[in-house]
Amino acid sequence: MNETRHNWTKEEILNIYNQPLMDLLYQAAGVHRKYHDPNTVQVSTLLSIKTGGCPEDCGYCPQAARYHTDVEGNDLMTVNQVKAQALRAKASGSSRVCMGAAWRNVKDGPEFEQVLEMVRTINKLEMEVCCTLGMLTENQAKRLAEAGLYAYNHNLDTSEEYYKEVISTRGYQDRLDTIGNVRKTNVTVCSGGIIGMGESVEDRAGMLVALSSLNPQPESVPINALVAVEGTPMEEQKPVAIWEMIRMVATTRIVMPETQVRLSAGRTDMSREGQAMCFFAGANSIFAGDKLLTTPNPDVNEDMEMFKLLGLNPQKPFIKKMQPETVEAEHSKFDALGEKPKWSRPGHTIDRNEEARNKARELKQTK
Ligand code: SF4
Repeated sequence: MNETRHNWTKEEILNIYNQPLMDLLYQAAGVHRKYHDPNTVQVSTLLSIKTGGCPEDCGYCPQAARYHTDVEGNDLMTVNQVKAQALRAKASGSSRVCMGAAWRNVKDGPEFEQVLEMVRTINKLEMEVCCTLGMLTENQAKRLAEAGLYAYNHNLDTSEEYYKEVISTRGYQDRLDTIGNVRKTNVTVCSGGIIGMGESVEDRAGMLVALSSLNPQPESVPINALVAVEGTPMEEQKPVAIWEMIRMVATTRIVMPETQVRLSAGRTDMSREGQAMCFFAGANSIFAGDKLLTTPNPDVNEDMEMFKLLGLNPQKPFIKKMQPETVEAEHSKFDALGEKPKWSRPGHTIDRNEEARNKARELKQTK
C-alpha cells in the first residue's frame, strides 16, 4: 500500500495533473481501488439552515449580502424543521446531513445552542452530522464534538496566492486555524475547493499542496465546479470543462489516497458519462438533493437511477469512523465562553468584487 505523503510539491502535482488523460485515469483508478471499494459512493444531503445575508465578500457566493442575487435569505431553521429534512434525506439514501449557515464565524449564544441541538438530534437518527458554519474557536469545536458532530466543513477554496483574488474579508491562515481547532477534537475534517474561478492550474495544484500537507489529511475533500450566479463577481466565468473536473478529481485522489473525494457543486452541468469518469477517477462521495445551499443540484431520484445504471451502492453511515456519542446539553463539560477572537480582515481591493457591490448598490437605489 502507498504511504500517504504530506510533502507533495507543486511540480509533482502539476506533472500528475498534466499527464495524458488515460495515464492519469489509470493511475488514479489504481490508487482508488487500493484504498476504497470502487463501487461504493457516500451520499450527503446539504441543508442550508440559515441562508443569505452573509457579511463576507467571497466572490463566488450568492449568499454574500453585498451582491445582488436572487437568493432569498431566511432565519435559522428550527430543530424540528431540520429533523424532518434529515429523516427525508435518510429515507432517500443519504448517510450524512451537512448543515450550512451563512455566517462569517460562529458566535456563542442562542443560535449556536440551537445548532448544537440540531447536531444532537441528527446524530440520534444514526446519520453522520456535518456542519459548515464559518470560523470556529477550539471551545466551539469541542462543544460541537460533544454534541455528536461527525465532520466539520471548512474549505480552503483555492491556493493561498489566488485566495487574495477571491475574498478580502478574511485570510487563508484563518481557514487553517479553524481546521486546526477542529483537529483538537475527534471530529473529522472536510475541506476542499472550487475550480473555474479564473485560477490557473498552478493554483489548483497549490490548493492540493496545502490540503495534502495537512497531517492528517482531510477525511473528505469536496471538489466544486463554480456555478456562476448572476449578480456575483464571478457571473461571467465560463463553465469548467468536464475534462478539468476529471483531472482535478483524479489528481486529488492520487495525492490524498485515503480521503473521500466529493463531487460537489456543478454536478447539474455534468453528463452521467462525465460523472461516471469522475467516479472511475476516484470520486466516492456526492451531495444529493435538488439544491446545494442555493444552487441547483440533480434530483435524488436521478442520482439513484445513475447509481443503478453504474452498479454503485450508497455507503452506510459510520463505515470510516465510529458514531460519536451525544452528550446532552445539561451534562456538557464545556461552557459558552463568549470569546471574540480576532479573525483577520485583510480588506484589500478586489476589482470584480467591488464592481459587483457597486452594481448591487445602484440596483438598490433604482428600486
Ligand atoms: S461562502 Fe460562506 S462565508 Fe463566503 S459569502 Fe458565502 S456564506 Fe458567506
